[in-house]
Amino acid sequence: MHTVYCDGACTPEDMILSAIEKGLSTVGISAHSYTFFDTSYCMQKADIPRYLAELRYLRAKYFDRIHVLCGVEQDYYSDYPTDDFDYVIGSVHYIAVDGEYIPVDESAEILRTAIKDHFDGDPYALCEAYFSTVADVVNMTACDIIGHFDLISKFIEREELFDTAHPRYIAAWQKAVDELLKHGVPFEINTGAISRGYRTSPYPSAEIQAYIKEHGGRFVLSSDAHSADALAYGFDQYDQ
Ligand SMILES: [Zn+2]
Repeated sequence: MHTVYCDGACTPEDMILSAIEKGLSTVGISAHSYTFFDTSYCMQKADIPRYLAELRYLRAKYFDRIHVLCGVEQDYYSDYPTDDFDYVIGSVHYIAVDGEYIPVDESAEILRTAIKDHFDGDPYALCEAYFSTVADVVNMTACDIIGHFDLISKFIEREELFDTAHPRYIAAWQKAVDELLKHGVPFEINTGAISRGYRTSPYPSAEIQAYIKEHGGRFVLSSDAHSADALAYGFDQYDQ
């Protein structure tokens, strides 16, 4: 989850207090890693030592009430080292094409324009580019958790971008899952887009979750909360 160190609304302490109130035994904060080409949403390089120090302080302050982990959500294209963090979520937020980094979760309009300008109007070529990047996220970030596997589908409940039942869409995600399963790294079940009103179901989709499960994959529940009220959103529907 995220705090004022990146694009979240609350301080780390507010998030920890909310986690204690909700009865959690462990809480992980995972600031967006520094991305040199887009600093609009991520932790700034100069703030990283302060983030580490503040989380260390809070871990000690609340040690008898909750276990606090200091993580990072490492973007595929971040080059900042992750050695100082307790855990790493590896996430793809951009597709790099024709020398541009195209954000996949900012707006449907950006995706529509990218399909037209960079993929000859073929939405499945965009999806294939996205999932082939995701397939490589463990190699690239050495992550402990795979973040929001099918983020590319963020807007499809409201916007006509592509059909997730299309054979090329299915083939693209299956190939990525098959590749990622080789690493044995768990996939995040991410309820963040539900709490923020973009979706009615978590990432990955029910179909993808079923496929991962069938093939021996594991999951970690994440609310990807950007505010204290969204923490642990929807966790009650899962048998932990
Ligand atoms: Zn993310």
